[in-house]
Amino acid sequence: TIGMLCLDKDGDIAGACTTSGLSYKMKGRIGDSPIIGSGLFIDNEVGGAVATGMGEEVLKTVGSFLIVELMRNGMSPQSACEEAIRRIVSKNDRYKDFQIAYVAMNKAGEIGSYCIHKGFTIMKYQNGTNKNVKVDFYNK
Ligand code: ASP
Repeated sequence: TIGMLCLDKDGDIAGACTTSGLSYKMKGRIGDSPIIGSGLFIDNEVGGAVATGMGEEVLKTVGSFLIVELMRNGMSPQSACEEAIRRIVSKNDRYKDFQIAYVAMNKAGEIGSYCIHKGFTIMKYQNGTNKNVKVDFYNK
């Protein structure tokens, strides 16, 4: 999955999410990416979030919508991503077998990201510069 969140000079947020789905998926499977609220959710009054990884688990927790709602209630993008991952791992003993990562941004341009396992990075582009940001993870 490629998830993108953008904040323009007027403070408006846009997002996109694209995927080929999972390897060896069942015919007809629809993952989280095309489902608004799961793989992607934007509220221009609050911020946005995108997901990658095991779509079934993101769908069950409506993860991107959850993150935006947590930010609406005052949480930072980082804490909101961590809470969304916690919801998944607390309900699923099999989390060691799959990866999920979230990226979030609020109206102030603050970003957060969190994943289950080590190895996920995000790219932040600001003022003409790309910066690779290592993402903290749950399964230490
Ligand atoms: N989230 C996608 C899906 O479950 C997979 C991916 O991250 O590429 O379809």
